[in-house]
Amino acid sequence: SKVLVSGANGFIAVWVVRLFLEAGYTVRGTVRSESKAGYLRTMFENYGQKFEVVVVEDITKPGAFDTAVKGMDAIAHTASPFHFEADDPNGVHPKNSVILLPTDRCHILIEELIEPAVHGTVGILESTLKNAPDVKRVVVLSSCASVSNPSDFGILNESNWNLENIEEVKNLGKKASQPAKYRASKTLAERAAWDFVAKNKGEIKWDLVTLCPPFVFGPVLHDVSSPAALNTSVKDVYESLLGGTKTPEQLQNFQGSWVDVRDVALAHVRALERPEAAGKRFIISSSNFVWQDWFDAANTLSIPGVNVPKGEPGAGAKVTHRHVYDTTRAKEELGIKFIDMKTTAKDMIDDFKKRGW
Ligand code: NDP
Repeated sequence: SKVLVSGANGFIAVWVVRLFLEAGYTVRGTVRSESKAGYLRTMFENYGQKFEVVVVEDITKPGAFDTAVKGMDAIAHTASPFHFEADDPNGVHPKNSVILLPTDRCHILIEELIEPAVHGTVGILESTLKNAPDVKRVVVLSSCASVSNPSDFGILNESNWNLENIEEVKNLGKKASQPAKYRASKTLAERAAWDFVAKNKGEIKWDLVTLCPPFVFGPVLHDVSSPAALNTSVKDVYESLLGGTKTPEQLQNFQGSWVDVRDVALAHVRALERPEAAGKRFIISSSNFVWQDWFDAANTLSIPGVNVPKGEPGAGAKVTHRHVYDTTRAKEELGIKFIDMKTTAKDMIDDFKKRGW
């Protein structure tokens, strides 16, 4: 079976490619430029003809994926911008941004976040409908950003949608907060995918599955030269645990949920294999966290040369989280047993150390 993975050079996508190859699939990855292809070709050279990379320069252009989808049996769409750097009207970073950013990267327009997310998703579905008659299933990598916003309360499941951040972006435009812009891009993209399926019901011969992970952490396979060049989520955990760049307030007040990148990749494989996944969204989340939980997990490992802040050991367990994800569907229907925090902390820190960071 042949699967197309868009954005194949990304943090999550390289793991997705690897698990598809290990499961016996033939994989065609897309990247934005030839310069990003070589690293992947070398990484997966043992797979010979079973792995290839093609260039799709601009995923927002109509028909961008027309050639890439040809001959495929399945599609996994992961390419989408994930950063908190969209055009900032004041030239400074909003206080509620969860990431500290260098000020010279504030110029990026909001269009660069929302347009590639939405047009990239709709574009790959259009190309699939037009040029890939053998495709049986399309998996779109969405996000918990499309399920909830940080102020939501209670137990949340796949029936929840984060519509608030779309309103915020509509009302405030460029003045909306950075996380709101990213979150809106993911909700709009996922909704556009489901709308596309509803509109083209008569013609489509495949079904859609969307995967919604919260923060994705874990060891890195993709091409990264330094911690500063890490993808948004791993950079965040690196800075929190090892970088010492977060203020105590940022560390104490932040509540999140996380999942190991290998579980997200496995979810892609299962989403293609399991008939019962058809037409469903899946929340792919291991557990809630506050940074103290990661400090505790890392400190119990006692890895030589690693100095993770002590904080207030055990304090994480006393935090009442505003919301919790119900992951019954992913466990029961995709058979995912989520990797625990200690394992992820160990594998991630070992990986950082191997890189000399
Ligand atoms: P990375 O930044 O490592 O990868 C993003 C991928 O998308 C890269 O291949 C990148 O290509 C591509 N991409 C980004 N912007 C564009 C654009 N404008 N046009 C075309 N391609 C683009 O991030 P992740 O692996 O973490 O994220 C992958 C997906 O997972 C995204 O859809 C993200 O929203 C989603 N996700 C991630 C989470 C996380 O915590 N990491 C949590 C939940 C969802 P290039 O290298 O050329 O820029």
